[in-house]
Amino acid sequence: MDVIVIGGGISGVATAYQLRAAGHRVCVIERHATVAQGATYGDGGALLPSPLDVWFGPTFMRQRQPRDSGIVYKPGFNGGVRRFVKQLGTLREPDAFAAQYARLRPLIDASRDMLADIEARLELEFEQKPGILHVVRDPRDWEAMQPALDLLRTLDQPYRTLSADECAALEPSVPAEPGFAGGVLLETERTGNCPLFAKLVKQTLDEHGVQFRFGADVAAIRVDTGRAAVELVPTGDRHASNAREVDVISADAIVVAAGAGSLPLLDRLGWRLPLHPVRVHTLTAPVAYEEHAPHLSVVDSIKRISITRTHQRLRVGGAGVLQSLPDTAKPLAEPLSEAALALLGQAVHDWVPGAARISAALSWQGTQLLSPDGLPVVGPTPHPRVFVNFGHGPAGWGLACGSAKVVTDYLGGDVQHWPADTLAALRAGRFTT
Ligand SMILES: Cc1cc2nc3c(=O)[nH]c(=O)nc-3n(C[C@H](O)[C@H](O)[C@H](O)COP(=O)(O)OP(=O)(O)OC[C@H]3O[C@@H](n4cnc5c(N)ncnc54)[C@H](O)[C@@H]3O)c2cc1C
Repeated sequence: MDVIVIGGGISGVATAYQLRAAGHRVCVIERHATVAQGATYGDGGALLPSPLDVWFGPTFMRQRQPRDSGIVYKPGFNGGVRRFVKQLGTLREPDAFAAQYARLRPLIDASRDMLADIEARLELEFEQKPGILHVVRDPRDWEAMQPALDLLRTLDQPYRTLSADECAALEPSVPAEPGFAGGVLLETERTGNCPLFAKLVKQTLDEHGVQFRFGADVAAIRVDTGRAAVELVPTGDRHASNAREVDVISADAIVVAAGAGSLPLLDRLGWRLPLHPVRVHTLTAPVAYEEHAPHLSVVDSIKRISITRTHQRLRVGGAGVLQSLPDTAKPLAEPLSEAALALLGQAVHDWVPGAARISAALSWQGTQLLSPDGLPVVGPTPHPRVFVNFGHGPAGWGLACGSAKVVTDYLGGDVQHWPADTLAALRAGRFTT
């Protein structure tokens, strides 16, 4: 089949890889000049999600002050954001959390397998590093996290719970004083450089005949003919009045993997999904003192802020800003941006003091999509030629390779080997039933 993939982030690149491996002819359309320029650019580096990494669960926004949850929360008068947060909040309940994680787990397992397969075939070097240390400050948060630890116990994922002193002994850049509740070491889990991974896979795809059209903005998807098609306009010319400038490319199937850009494309087809864009931030700062720089990746599990070292730099990622849809579409107001970056700077100060020169840090912000039930949107749509793969929230790299396989299996009519409740939980149609 001829398949168009919209979006050159990690979801689009991984989808193109699986489609090509299944024998399809693939064209990836990306509005930027290269791959990995959207949320993928800011990726914090954790390869595969554990029960401690997913956005839903027992510790999701349970603090009275949102900033204590690592979030800048500005719903304004918008009831939609509050409803969204309330819905995600229902998954704090341990049984609901465990049931939702069970639906997600086959996707995580498939991602692990697909990633291992890609690594074995392509022998990629993307700055992989083992060892992720989750740390928790407040004993009440540690208590609240227990259902996630209970779940971890049931998985094959090796982990160790540690006291503050044990954390400090293992990772001397984390001070034992002031005291904190404890940590969880995922010693075999890895971090890596997600944009680099995407670029390396893209290079391989170039060699295998996958086309990449950069600097092209998909203005709309057409589904009114026997084949599906996309309308392309050069980037920056979205509202071109001159119809001759609109290029139309048709294909047997289209996969929408356009991250936050997916919603407007589906909206125009009359498919409105209740996902919410969240602005997230990174700081990339030079290492200040070698002896204070962490060798493990350190994650503030409650604030969902990750601190990862790559060479002589520390990348600190997280600090979501939750606003109404119209506000998220506008440039972020300076005070909110400052508040978000202050959360990241504070995390460095709290967990690896002296490790990085925050005053010399480069900041970045991007948008990622979250769904109200914490799971991505992967699979078919009401139109048999249009498929979707987005909304992975904070685990997009971790889920990219498995999600790509789901979409590819749908295209090939070969999904019987996937658990039915996982497929149902990922489908876009779940929101309409
Ligand atoms: C700070 C931060 C830390 C993170 N940490 C982790 C982590 O540790 N582990 C993990 O697994 N995940 C993490 N994530 C999440 C993960 O990075 C994202 O879920 C993932 O990158 C999303 O990939 P994507 O391809 O779906 O979206 P994107 O990377 O946003 O890609 C979508 C692409 O589509 C293009 N596009 C959109 N609309 C159009 C259009 N109309 N026409 C043409 N092109 C279009 C965009 O330009 C963009 O390049 C983190 C994210 C951030 C921001």
